[in-house]
Amino acid sequence: MLLRSKNHCYQLRETTMQYFKVKKNKQGKKVIETQLAGKPILTIPQLNKGTAFSQEERRSLGLLGKLPGRVEDLDGQVQRAYQQFCDYTLPIHKNIFLNVLHNTNEVLFYALIKKHFKEMMPIVYTPVVGDSVVDFSKSFRQTRGLYVSYEDIDNLEEIFQNRTNQDVQLIVITDGSGVLGIGDQGVGGMGIPIAKLVLYTAIGGISPYNTLPVVLDVGTDNQTLLDDPLYLGWRHPRINEKEYQHFIEKVISCIKQEYDRAFIHWEDFSAKNAVSILDRYREKMCTFNDDIQGTGVVALAAILAALKRKGSNIKGQRILIFGAGAAGCGIAEHLFHSMIKLGFTEQEAKDQFWLIDRQGLLFDDSDNISQVQMNFARSKDERPLFNEYSLHGVVKVIKPTILIGCSAVAGSFTDEILRDLASLVDHPVILPLSNPTERAEATPEAIYTATLGRVFVATGSPFPAFSFGGKAQVIGQCNNAYAFPGIGLAVVAVKARRITDEMLYAASEAICDYVVNNKYSDQLITPIPEMSVEIAKSVAYAVAKKAVESDNAGLSGDPIKLVDELYWEPKYYPVVRG
Ligand code: NAD
Repeated sequence: MLLRSKNHCYQLRETTMQYFKVKKNKQGKKVIETQLAGKPILTIPQLNKGTAFSQEERRSLGLLGKLPGRVEDLDGQVQRAYQQFCDYTLPIHKNIFLNVLHNTNEVLFYALIKKHFKEMMPIVYTPVVGDSVVDFSKSFRQTRGLYVSYEDIDNLEEIFQNRTNQDVQLIVITDGSGVLGIGDQGVGGMGIPIAKLVLYTAIGGISPYNTLPVVLDVGTDNQTLLDDPLYLGWRHPRINEKEYQHFIEKVISCIKQEYDRAFIHWEDFSAKNAVSILDRYREKMCTFNDDIQGTGVVALAAILAALKRKGSNIKGQRILIFGAGAAGCGIAEHLFHSMIKLGFTEQEAKDQFWLIDRQGLLFDDSDNISQVQMNFARSKDERPLFNEYSLHGVVKVIKPTILIGCSAVAGSFTDEILRDLASLVDHPVILPLSNPTERAEATPEAIYTATLGRVFVATGSPFPAFSFGGKAQVIGQCNNAYAFPGIGLAVVAVKARRITDEMLYAASEAICDYVVNNKYSDQLITPIPEMSVEIAKSVAYAVAKKAVESDNAGLSGDPIKLVDELYWEPKYYPVVRG
């Protein structure tokens, strides 16, 4: 830790680093206590208030003369920061500006993005975060989170001790191998845990003093990065399977040792590693994979909402998934486990799925089929039922009531397929989930036109409202950001020991209920951005309640109160000398 000595030099103390502590003072009010003084305070975003430090704080913290004389409040600072934000025209420059602010003054950053939520979310999160990940090494300015490199395998304890936030309760971790449809981004993947944690705080109300973004730098197979002289990660091909598994095991053991019961959110791992890590740790610790489970939660929420609007239920639905990769199979798994919880037999649940991948409809004798795809493959005995195994051929035979696209094949839900589907099924549920926008299997407008509006739609990417039947149609997005912030809030609030299928189902139901009970539109089956915070709280209440009921919570008490008490809003606490 940096300490200020009498002669005003700074020195390192050789104990565990603790820059600050959030605590309650004698009057029961929250304060931030620090042993630092002077300039270092202005360089730590959790401590820095900039021009909002009071005169008293300036005197006691050695800041006199280091700031312009006028003491501002947070609102004034937000106003200035917004003007500065507006001075940038390119989204990537706006993203860089917000990242710098995030690394300068955390409270101001959150106050700003919460005030201008709709405008800034696409800048700090998708889609612009994808560009910032690609540009990571080029646009790197300040650092945040922990970079855990395979080269440092013998120093992992030290790395995890070197965190700035002492009380870490939520970790988002990536190895940058499967980023947002842009694949292997190596160390640049760090942009994703940072962005996810911004949403956990801005939407889910988890205090930024309790979070930690982590990137595992295990090399990269992205030749462009390896050839880039500015690349900031380990210039080495990705390590082999055995080394990787050993490294993950060591990382997990350090995390357990250092952070005891922190909730671990895995993000943007390649499909194979994502599944194997989740399978290995889900029963051993409180852990969650957003690409698999988060996607499943929002997709199920959309389906439940559409079925509720139709006065129907999940039993007997025919679910066709086009693109059986990580997302497609993740959705199938989540729907399947939810059906089992609802009392279906495994066979009954499995019979409701058809999966199509590059080979066409998947059968149990198909070539190149993965284990997870095999779980949902149809029996080879059904082959004669189909003239062709293409999407159109399968639609004509099985008449799917729910059609989900996770293929990233643009336009694959053609007008002809959609027209035929609408003629065979009353109000099918159609979810073209592929991102980015130009990869969507169909646009909502094309779906409405081809089906004459007799349809329920939600998309993976955001689409603008369009006019249909003389009315403006607003289409909700099947965005994981409606699920994970509330799930995390619940887990941290009640100190859940595990994330169970029941808790995830409760999350889907909470999203569905919010959307269906909201008077916004009788066509909407997933939320719109304005609903984010309310949705997160509804999800958190439902998930926390389920955790307590199932004896899966480390804290007892009213789960709703626990969630409300935890919810963090950006405001300045007094900073005092420790
Ligand atoms: P992935 O690469 O793991 O899966 C894509 C699958 O589509 C692969 O199995 C591939 O073989 C298959 N495919 C490719 N061409 C095909 C074709 N012509 N016919 C049939 N199948 C074909 O990727 P993923 O992580 O599963 O993501 C898929 C898409 O879903 C991406 O666009 C991603 O952005 C999107 N997604 C959306 C959400 C959401 O809306 N909440 C969440 C996760 C992923």
